[in-house]
Amino acid sequence: MPSEFEIIRRFFTYPAPHAVLGVGDDAALVKIAKGKELVVSTDMLVCGTHFLPGADPYQLGYKALAVNLSDMAAMGATPRWSTLSLALPEADEKWLKPFAKGFMDLARAERVDLIGGDTTRGPLNICVQIMGEVPEGKALRRDGAKVGDEIWVSGRLGDAALALAHLQNRIQLGAQESLVCLNKLHTPAVRVTLGRHLLGLAHSAIDISDGLLADLGHILERSEVAAVIEFTALPRSAVLQKYLKHDVALHALLAGGDDYELCFTAPKKNGGRLAKLSRKLKLPLTRIGNIKRGRGLTLLGVAGKRIAWSSKGYDHFG
Ligand code: ADP
Ligand code: MG
Repeated sequence: MPSEFEIIRRFFTYPAPHAVLGVGDDAALVKIAKGKELVVSTDMLVCGTHFLPGADPYQLGYKALAVNLSDMAAMGATPRWSTLSLALPEADEKWLKPFAKGFMDLARAERVDLIGGDTTRGPLNICVQIMGEVPEGKALRRDGAKVGDEIWVSGRLGDAALALAHLQNRIQLGAQESLVCLNKLHTPAVRVTLGRHLLGLAHSAIDISDGLLADLGHILERSEVAAVIEFTALPRSAVLQKYLKHDVALHALLAGGDDYELCFTAPKKNGGRLAKLSRKLKLPLTRIGNIKRGRGLTLLGVAGKRIAWSSKGYDHFG
């Protein structure tokens, strides 16, 4: 079995072109560009809470970084540096190798340096910290939504939650259908490029990790505004649409976590530029509603009928 120091050297030491000093000293050194703010976030994946024992190590490595990159995307930040703190039950090379590859494949694709971390024995726990840069005063915050803004989301919602429901036998998807959805659950796309392009276009943003209604709710609370959302406008995959008569799929669309798409608000006048951006990035950007004066979230169904919902579940459509 490799020692702690062999593990660090063999699996977690890589060039760090954006850092002054990376892995190997008591701490790493980084330099923030002039006119930029440092953006910092951390997210932990705990065995039994966020994933099951026996989860695929490549996907875990990938996802541990992906969920952190998603927070950078939601701020409009450019991610630069990451740290990785690991508690491992044992020094299993067969696990460490694919885990490190999953993490580093995404890190390289997004040009994020791994500049440090900690490695210790314990119940499997993966804690990633991500640091990035954003032009001073320009970050996309949750408190920036303005009355009259339009509400947008990227991609399609609910497939990841649908996949989880499939794994938990709460719904049965076809083989091909489950493959597509499971892929979204285990290796979610990161919207870093979109986030960066939204600087100057959007007033506020959040990444959808806990479900559209809950996460949009955070924007509304912090911005002290209300929202009206149109159910029919919510972007969904053909698979989700097919199963929509099941409560499980409906719940996935409205409140399913783990999609890591962005929800953002933007002034009406930027609609054309956002449509253009959608074509440029080959990523659906969909207008789903409007920001209003007041508090709370109203969900409208077919023919403008209100849909009653609560965080626990949904009443039926009007
Ligand atoms: P210290 O005893 O000062 O905490 P460590 O021996 O824990 O130092 O770590 C040595 C170096 O390896 C440090 O640069 C640390 O940031 C890095 N490191 C440790 N674990 C990891 C890891 N899992 N991923 C990346 N870097 C790591
Ligand atoms: Mg240490």
